[in-house]
Amino acid sequence: MPIEMQQDLTALLEKHFGFRTFRPLQEEIVQTVLRKEHCLVVMPTGSGKSLCFQVPALCQSGLTLVISPLIALMKDQVDGLRANGVQAAFLNSSQSMSEQEAVKAEIRSGSVPLLYIAPERLAAAGFREFLAEANVSLLAIDEAHCISEWGHEFRPDYRNLRGLRSAFPSIPCIALTATATPKVQADIREQLMLPEARLFLSSFNRPNLLYHVYPKNQSFERLLLILRSPQRLPAIVYCFSRRDTEMLAEDLKAEGLTALPYHAGLDAQTRRETQEKFMRDQVSVITATIAFGMGIDKPDVRTVVHMDLPKNIEGYYQETGRAGRDGLPSDCVLFFSYGDKFKQDYFIDQMENPDLQSVARGQLEKMLDYGQLRTCRRNFLLSYFGERPAEKTCNGCDRCLQRGETFDATEITQKILSAVLRTGERFGAAHICDVLLGKNKERIRSFHHDQLSVFGSVQEFDDRQLREIIAELLDNDFLLKASGQYPTLSLTEKGRKAIIERQKVELRKPEVTPHVAERGVEQNELPYDAALFEELRVLRRQIAEQQGVAAFVIFGDRSLREMATFFPQRPEAFAQIYGVSDRKLEQFGQRFLAIIQSFAAVHNLQERAMSASPPYAAPRQRKSKILRQDSTYQETRTLIECKRSLTDIARERNLKEGTIIQHIEELIMAGMPLDIDYLRPEAAIFDPIAAMFRSCSGEALAPVFQALEGKYTYDTVRLTRIFLLRDRDITQI
Ligand code: ADP
Ligand code: MG
Ligand code: ZN
Repeated sequence: MPIEMQQDLTALLEKHFGFRTFRPLQEEIVQTVLRKEHCLVVMPTGSGKSLCFQVPALCQSGLTLVISPLIALMKDQVDGLRANGVQAAFLNSSQSMSEQEAVKAEIRSGSVPLLYIAPERLAAAGFREFLAEANVSLLAIDEAHCISEWGHEFRPDYRNLRGLRSAFPSIPCIALTATATPKVQADIREQLMLPEARLFLSSFNRPNLLYHVYPKNQSFERLLLILRSPQRLPAIVYCFSRRDTEMLAEDLKAEGLTALPYHAGLDAQTRRETQEKFMRDQVSVITATIAFGMGIDKPDVRTVVHMDLPKNIEGYYQETGRAGRDGLPSDCVLFFSYGDKFKQDYFIDQMENPDLQSVARGQLEKMLDYGQLRTCRRNFLLSYFGERPAEKTCNGCDRCLQRGETFDATEITQKILSAVLRTGERFGAAHICDVLLGKNKERIRSFHHDQLSVFGSVQEFDDRQLREIIAELLDNDFLLKASGQYPTLSLTEKGRKAIIERQKVELRKPEVTPHVAERGVEQNELPYDAALFEELRVLRRQIAEQQGVAAFVIFGDRSLREMATFFPQRPEAFAQIYGVSDRKLEQFGQRFLAIIQSFAAVHNLQERAMSASPPYAAPRQRKSKILRQDSTYQETRTLIECKRSLTDIARERNLKEGTIIQHIEELIMAGMPLDIDYLRPEAAIFDPIAAMFRSCSGEALAPVFQALEGKYTYDTVRLTRIFLLRDRDITQI
């Protein structure tokens, strides 16, 4: 390949999409398309298939015709392209006649190189004649598996493509799909008459997805635990029935989350609005039947949950694939109960075609295997799709992460069970945790639970971990939870026996934090400033609403995270950010820059240099820990933001004051904008300490502490030093 062409393509990518490099296979595919060869592209969801036909459309003459199955998807894609300054259009039944005519006129004039259509359009009268005039130079068939009955999303309209292929046999064709089974691939080739198409098959591994299976009892509590963590949103929660989606959405709303149901039984208008709200980040959880998703191309979905057993691995993989298209860590959770098999059996029994019926049974068996697996879930999925995994363990599924990760829970089990018993088996998990952690709460005092010997007896676990251990005790039948309005805990027979006989208990270790960042893909986590990120998100939502487009059309999460990491304050620096094309710089640059500038001014932040090569240079371990939203640092930060005293915070958090001071120091040194002036020691204390630091010329604590001859505590000296370091009154070594 000529070197200039290579450079040109990369320049094109940067200019129009704001990306610095091609992803694996993309460039090769683009080259092949430009050589006018047919291609069959089989790559997982999120791997960037669209670019494989969008880039050629930009650098060759003639029209690229894109067949795409759903109307909603089409609009988002076209919006996304236009926001990048790429001329694109779509034709579908949502448009009025005159709108359609206007689009056709544009196409005939040759000013628009990309046209998206739905497959049913191919059968419309006069459409083929229109194409004949349009000078089509590439046919791109997205979601090509829809043509196969063996796939799980067969769409009869896709069969119209055969006619199109016969009418224009010499136009190069690129078929793209994320369905990897060889049978479906062969069928696509046959149906589309592409026997000689060059195959591009990439690994189906999605390293940024974490796979988890939980037992189905307690599923709602677990779900809440997951969704309460802001960085696990937005989320899609798949349910079995339409009714389930509606009830679950209600329950989630009652818990203060923004949730909406989505299923095929809702009218088109409601469905469209729901999708739009999700795309524009106005609602953070969608509870859905599998009808939801085909039309959704939201790149920043952080969690996909299945409340019930999916029919087959293909569907499951596709649905979980909707998480983390942007490559950032995301979670896939399945709530599993063997009993769910029978619900699916019912449908299989109704099937008329015995061949398809036996296929369905086999597929369901595999799904059951997945749920009951004792070994790596990722490897199971990959080998299902015919891949031979390179490693035995993946470090990104519950099985690999929990290997041997149990702990001797005898002590904590005794404490929990006796707290439940001593409080009369009349309270829920939240109260039990408060008692064990010794929380200073009115409710506890009013029941005299602060008098119990178990009050404040737990130091080694925090609230969230305790909740997990309680969930484990429920899963393992030591505890029982009342159903209904008051989910009070009581002991089972097994629980009573355990407490009387002081049985040894082994439980699964609670996660240090339930977030995926703990699992070795840390390099993907930018140590971004969460407060600025939130401000940028608000601006993104406003612009998306004004323009009537999906939020990611403006900028993806990854772009915002980079902005909140590098604080670009000049257009040249802003242009370096991931996803900032020339057009976006021009259109949105000023508004985003204004926010970053004023944030930086208030918090005294400097622009940070972006390293040219890996956009995701591994952050220093220490920093990412500090900045991760659910870390212990963040809890301290929140309390500081509430202007609580050190003594108060230490008591609330059950930590030493010195530890809190250390947190503050780390937060400030990591550049976290935090108002700590109210903690400043009074001048009579501050000044002599400051003077001593200066005369000792350095930041080391011990010499200053000694020189002050014990007049001030170590903590006070350290606290004073934070101000000196922050205000650059002493230099860091
Ligand atoms: P697919 O169709 O394979 O599911 P998409 O084409 O929708 O994937 O792309 C998924 C995401 O990856 C999009 O947000 C897209 O902007 C992004 N992307 C694609 N190619 C690149 C690239 N070369 N560099 C960075 N991001 C990319
Ligand atoms: Mg796609
Ligand atoms: Zn694994």
